[in-house]
Amino acid sequence: MSSASGFATALRRGIAALALAGVGGIVPGAPEQLLLLLGEARTAQAQAQQFGQPWDRSPTVLVASPPNDARIPLVVDAVAYWNQQLEEIGTPFRLGSVEYTTQLLPDDYLIARGAAVDRGAVPPPIPEGVWQMPGDLIVALSGAAFVSWTTPRQAGGKVLVGIRNERGPPMSLPNVARNVILHELGHAIGLGHNDDRTLLMCGRPAPCRPDAFQSDAPRYFPLADAERALLATLYPPTWSPTR
Ligand SMILES: [Zn+2]
Repeated sequence: MSSASGFATALRRGIAALALAGVGGIVPGAPEQLLLLLGEARTAQAQAQQFGQPWDRSPTVLVASPPNDARIPLVVDAVAYWNQQLEEIGTPFRLGSVEYTTQLLPDDYLIARGAAVDRGAVPPPIPEGVWQMPGDLIVALSGAAFVSWTTPRQAGGKVLVGIRNERGPPMSLPNVARNVILHELGHAIGLGHNDDRTLLMCGRPAPCRPDAFQSDAPRYFPLADAERALLATLYPPTWSPTR
């Protein structure tokens, strides 16, 4: 196991210091709207349970990929986007710095886990070597084809994301890879699925699949109000790292 300095240019990015654009927007004025929102938040929370507990620290992100992979900037953009959403929600929680390694996760594991997700089966165990990798949130950009996935938070405090290749549809379709990566990072911070194919977090058991993200112009699909409310619950204004 080597360090994250696989790239000669091993770029270390700090958390983007985004201008404070205004806080809140999640508490509606009318009580009936609030009740509706709380009900939706509970549903979203139930869906999110498989993705475990909120982070107890700002997770460092380790991108494990071949050098100069075209998906690397999409991960960087997705981290910045989530941090902007978190800032707008009014929480101090952020995804941490993004680092890189050319140390790849084994494709046979990534494929087997994708197959288990596809079948709703028990996933294979995480390879031992992963625990020695330096990131808290490890994003594997694979050259193999499988259903992209995110693990629940592991006892050791890590989350793994497996992203399939872009050589064929749906990932090769315009605007799909950026939203698949954003979607998986949404799981990594605690969101589950919804069943609205116009939204970012649509997924199983709903029939929406990544091809729903196809668009001629690059754009991110939106969050549901209930998902913003859930994030505000998972990461309240009083959130602070505990380790
Ligand atoms: Zn998903």
